[in-house]
Amino acid sequence: MESSRVKRRRLLMVPCPYQGHINPMLHLATFLHQNGFSITIAHTFFNSPHPYRHPEFTFLPLNDSITADHVSSWDLASVLLAINENCKGSLEEAMAAMAGGDGEESSEVVCIIHDELMYYCEGVASRFGVRSLVLRTTSAATCVSRCAVLNLHAAGFEEEIPAELHPLRLKDLPLPATSDFTKFHELVINMYTITTAKAVIWNTMPWLEPSELNQIKAKFCQIPIFPIAPIHKISPTSSSSSLLKEDSTCLSWLDKQPPKSVIYVSLGSVALLTKEEVEEMGWGLVNSNQPFLWVVRPGSVRGSDAIELVLKEVEEKVGDRGCIVQWAPQKEVLGHGGVGGFWSHCGWNSTLESLSEGVPLLCRAFSGDQRVNARYISCVWGVGLTLEGELDRKEVEKVIRRVMVEEEGRKMKERAMDFKRRIEDSLKEDRSSSCDLKDR
Ligand code: UDP
Repeated sequence: MESSRVKRRRLLMVPCPYQGHINPMLHLATFLHQNGFSITIAHTFFNSPHPYRHPEFTFLPLNDSITADHVSSWDLASVLLAINENCKGSLEEAMAAMAGGDGEESSEVVCIIHDELMYYCEGVASRFGVRSLVLRTTSAATCVSRCAVLNLHAAGFEEEIPAELHPLRLKDLPLPATSDFTKFHELVINMYTITTAKAVIWNTMPWLEPSELNQIKAKFCQIPIFPIAPIHKISPTSSSSSLLKEDSTCLSWLDKQPPKSVIYVSLGSVALLTKEEVEEMGWGLVNSNQPFLWVVRPGSVRGSDAIELVLKEVEEKVGDRGCIVQWAPQKEVLGHGGVGGFWSHCGWNSTLESLSEGVPLLCRAFSGDQRVNARYISCVWGVGLTLEGELDRKEVEKVIRRVMVEEEGRKMKERAMDFKRRIEDSLKEDRSSSCDLKDR
């Protein structure tokens, strides 16, 4: 038992309750646990991680008061603002109990590490005199462009897009999903105007976004930044932090496919599609003649009853050439030798996971930071193509073949493999910066 050993220092880690935020936080927690810290994960009831998958951590549920209405509205900004408002008191009570208690489980917290969107933790850390660190789970380019959106909005969107945002276009900027700019403004200001955190841990590589990180350091971040990406690679772990059950049967299907032949299709944990879009995707995949592994997440299609039939028809048509699942073990899929391309919504985790495995992308961004990432993937790093505008099966078929079969796809693949090698090299070199982080 821990208590008979040297007493570990306890870290309180607070993820934002969405899959793309939970994953990097739990990977970071695994890394820090492997390096001698005790870990408490403070989480909402809404989208709670599964404690049984991580027996090495202590889990602390916080009273989030998130209602079914909040969730079904798909108004992410409102949900996030409500969590920041509602969880503070609950976390303060827990901190007071931990500070006052005795025994290993109640040991005193030495640092709070929170997701950038869980900024309420700053006030809690200050109140208890505990240091805090912020984990940024989106790209540095996203941070720069979100701040630029605030300035452009203040100028009524009449100014030119600033030169330092090149090659982003106005349509690539992470504009709020709703017309309610006030909530977006509040989130961005709170998320990036750090006053008390001791440092920022950033899930990016310094060589991947050098000018964006320099801009951030020069303009709005006076505290040290530790870029330690890709976080999922610094702490190899077999335990999954997926909220949905992963269907591993797709791995044995992949085993039977020729090397690099499969296009893996997954649009992340939040994107919503129409039935028509699913139809165009499905028939484009069928007509491309490439093997495909397609994730169709439950609830990801508006009026989803209607898509059962579409999926059944697609499955009947392709037979063994296609595999459709509800949720995949994505990191393993991307690392599988059968996969040669990734049709992605370009969430930041998916982007880093693809680069880490040398897999070129077909980018179909939906909202928020995804358009920024898609633009970098296609125009800055040259490892993908974008599929914009209304989905059309003929276009889908063509673009899949461009990525998977044609010469331009082969070149993108080579560049993606260079990224993979560079990531592997930097992971070896960066052991020292991870060590710095442990001492913070
Ligand atoms: N993911 C997964 N299985 C799937 C689809 C996604 O495990 O079938 C994981 C993926 O590996 C990534 C996360 O879910 O770590 C999605 O995060 P991302 O930032 O790419 O997108 P988001 O879901 O936040 O839009």
